[in-house]
This record gives sequence, structure tokens and C-alpha cells, in this order.
Amino acid sequence: MYATTYHKASSLDDAVAKLGGAEDGKFLSGGQTLLATMKQRLAAPTDLVDLTKIPELKGITLDGDTVTVGAASTHYEVHSSDAVKSAIPALAALAGLIGDPAVRNMGTMGGSVANNDPAADYPAALVGLNATVHTNKRALSADDFFTGMFETALEEDEVIVKISFPAPEKAGYEKFRNPASRYAMCGVMAVKLKDGSVRVAVTGAGSDGVFRVPEMEQALAANWSPDAVASITVSPDDMIGDLHGSPEYRAHLVTVMAKRAVAAAG
Ligand SMILES: Cc1cc2nc3c(=O)[nH]c(=O)nc-3n(C[C@H](O)[C@H](O)[C@H](O)COP(=O)(O)OP(=O)(O)OC[C@H]3O[C@@H](n4cnc5c(N)ncnc54)[C@H](O)[C@@H]3O)c2cc1C
Repeated sequence: MYATTYHKASSLDDAVAKLGGAEDGKFLSGGQTLLATMKQRLAAPTDLVDLTKIPELKGITLDGDTVTVGAASTHYEVHSSDAVKSAIPALAALAGLIGDPAVRNMGTMGGSVANNDPAADYPAALVGLNATVHTNKRALSADDFFTGMFETALEEDEVIVKISFPAPEKAGYEKFRNPASRYAMCGVMAVKLKDGSVRVAVTGAGSDGVFRVPEMEQALAANWSPDAVASITVSPDDMIGDLHGSPEYRAHLVTVMAKRAVAAAG
């Protein structure tokens, strides 16, 4: 690991100023991805600006039908939040499936979302639940936020402050885990929103990261049941192929996990 200078930001403005004053700085949240990347010498920021003590990035609230999660909330805090459990139980369950206890106690929703690992769980939750990402500059729909594998619409000095989710009528998430890392080889979030619209978001499988399956959404809008998606397949052409599974295997998992996610949603 190369030498780096650690800064603790006390406010959003302080974080942006500290990053602006650094030669090649990076924001730091739980460090579960960034520090590992630095240890492997794949990244060597001159400065790390810790966001986790900024008050605006903390806390989880339920206001009417909207759950708002501060970006510095850990996966454990999301998993154990009464607000999340009561309004979006599928999101609480999803957070409990991330990694292991050490990862869940350190890793944050903001860090995971900013990183946009193609096998991460939260991208499917944000897109499936039609969430909004609030930064220090703007509000972005999840559909617009995730732009490709490890890529987002975030600018260099843009901080994710919080993520807001409309409470759905029904939602279910099922993932087929990589048995070693527990990342998703395929994870599907199936959601019926309170306005009647249906969203199906897939993570872990697509070579461009999270994606929606319009055919499944249409079928579920007409008939919310696992059978409605049982014969709908996705093309392996855009799927990830690696030592853990071929594109064809992942394409097959999309249908299997979608059926299970709809069943889990009830
Ligand atoms: C062993 C292991 C298993 C894992 N298993 C899973 C799994 O099953 N599912 C899953 O989804 N994930 C998994 N992860 C990843 C984990 O969820 C991480 O927490 C997550 O990827 C990064 O979050 P972090 O808070 O640690 O971010 P960091 O590592 O601190 O930062 C990641 C990136 O986001 C940027 N960033 C951080 N916060 C913000 C912010 N608020 N605004 C803008 N940019 C920001 C940083 O600059 C950096 O580029 C696993 C990780 C490990 C080590």
C-alpha cells in the first residue's frame, strides 16, 4: 500500500474542500472496496477524505411512504432498521445478504452505490424500487445514476448524501450467491409499486451492470405470479462470463431468480 493522507470531513462543504485541495484524492466510506483496491496497488490516492462522520450522511427515516437512507448507513444498519423492515422488508433482507458480518458492519450504501460493482446487491434494489440518489449537487433517478460496469453519473467532487425509496406494494429479492465472496452471480429485485407499475432489476449477470427486463415487467403487470416470468428468457449475449459461470448459465439464472423473487414478494 502506498502512503496516503487521511482526513476526517466534518461537513459536506469540508469534504468537498478537502478533496479539492488534494493532488489525487478519493472519498472514503466503509473502505471495504477502496482499501482493498489500495492494498492490491490498483489505486494510490494521495488523500482519503472520510465521509462517515458527516451528520447529513447519517440516519434512516420513514416519512409517509418514503424511506430515506443516509449514504453512510452501514449494511447492518439498513438490515436492522425498523423503518426499512416495516416499509420495505425486501431491502432489509437484501442488506442482510451482503458479504459477511465484517463487511456489513463497515460497508455503506453510499459506498456500494458509488462503486457500482456489477455483482453488488444495492444497484438492483435502487433500480427495482425506483429510488432517487441525492447528492450534494442534484437528485438523480436510479435509472439515470447507474451508467455501466463500475460507472455512475457521479462527478469527481460529487458526494452521495442519501438515497430515498418509495415504499412499494410488494417487493422481493433473490440472489444466487458466489459461495466464496457472497457477491451476486445473479440477483433479481421484483417490485410492484403503489402506482401499479412493475419493475424487475437484475444485478450480477449483465456485463454493463444492473439492467431491467421489460418483458418480465409487462408480464407481471398483467399477472403477478412466478408463472408469468417462467418462460421469459434473456439473451446470453450481454451476460458476464467468468470462471464462476458462463453467460448462458447466468442468463438461465435470471429467469430462475426472477421466479423466486416474485414468489418471495408474495
Ligand atoms: C469480502 C467481501 C464481500 C462482499 N460481498 C458483497 C456482497 O455480497 N454484495 C455486495 O453488494 N457487496 C459486497 N461487498 C462490497 C461491500 O458491500 C462494500 O461495502 C461496498 O462495495 C463499498 O462500500 P464502502 O462503504 O466500503 O465504500 P468504500 O470502499 O469506502 O468506497 C468505494 C468507492 O465509493 C466512493 N464513495 C464512497 N462513499 C461515497 C459517497 N457517499 N459519495 C460518493 N462516492 C463515495 C469511494 O471514493 C470509492 O471510490 C463485499 C466486500 C467484501 C470485502
